[in-house]
Amino acid sequence: IPASVTVIGLGNMGVALADAFLKGGHPTTVWNRSADKANGLVEKGAVLAGSVREAIAASNLVVVCLSTYKVMQEQLAPLENELSGRVIVNLTTGTPEDARKTAKWVSEHGGQYLDGAIMAIPQMIGLPETLIFYGGSKALFEAYEPTLKLLGGNAAYLGEDYGVPLIYDLSLLTMMYGAWYGSMHAHALLSTANITGTEFLPYATNWVNHLIAPLLTDPVAARARDEGNFTTDVSNLNTNKLGLEHIIHASQEQGITVEWLMPLLTLATQKVAEGYGADSFDRVIEAIRKPLVK
Ligand code: NDP
Repeated sequence: IPASVTVIGLGNMGVALADAFLKGGHPTTVWNRSADKANGLVEKGAVLAGSVREAIAASNLVVVCLSTYKVMQEQLAPLENELSGRVIVNLTTGTPEDARKTAKWVSEHGGQYLDGAIMAIPQMIGLPETLIFYGGSKALFEAYEPTLKLLGGNAAYLGEDYGVPLIYDLSLLTMMYGAWYGSMHAHALLSTANITGTEFLPYATNWVNHLIAPLLTDPVAARARDEGNFTTDVSNLNTNKLGLEHIIHASQEQGITVEWLMPLLTLATQKVAEGYGADSFDRVIEAIRKPLVK
């Protein structure tokens, strides 16, 4: 029989995680503040622990998926003496520093720790292609890899720094929110001429597939950026700064908020003022890393 596992936190994600362990044949103990969220899992064979203490005691491997690190700390701090010999795999989203501090705290109390970041929605948990990042001891990751792969077959080990999974996670999310906000801004602009999202969709699809996706995933550009080489024969910072100004003016003419775009224009303007107008737009990374102090 596979080893027993515990899942603490049965939100949308925690339920999916516990379900995947049950499907993988692991005796699974669960705990949640609102116990009723365990009902469906209990019907499938999970054991509902009466307390977090009981849940931790039930298994060597304890997976935590709560809304925030603060919530996790509130739940686990009183139980620091129960952590000895336990392996905590924390899939809660937070900052890299949250992860590093938690790892230190767990190890100070005799437990072992892996930090993870789930790059998926609950409906994707358990699929072979589902990506989950992990950081911590390589030996520990490898020991639990087959079990963790039940949650997402693409379990990517990123090294010993506990903060790195969340850096990858938050970097990918930053890309998502930038594109997502951009899409909402575009739709607000379109609606000023009564153009629907459905009418726009074929052109948006073409644009994303043939321009944006290649732009963001070009290996040559990635290497050039790594090397600090910002030359371009495609479109330079001057041209892109003008493009931003046109979007801002057109939006203002229509009464649409441009607050999100202004900092981007400020960064582009800073690099143009420093004499980099003929370089690629990627130059703004320098201004993001080191903004001018106002
Ligand atoms: P939910 O809002 O569905 O669930 C939140 C969980 O945290 C519940 O178990 C909830 O308990 C618990 N909780 C919140 N506040 C407290 C508290 N004060 N005391 C005790 N328990 C508390 O969130 P998700 O399951 O979607 O997300 C959980 C984590 O997974 C987050 O860190 C999220 O960023 C991450 N994640 C989620 C993804 C998703 O698509 N959903 C994708 C990738 C990562 P209760 O049921 O009692 O309210």
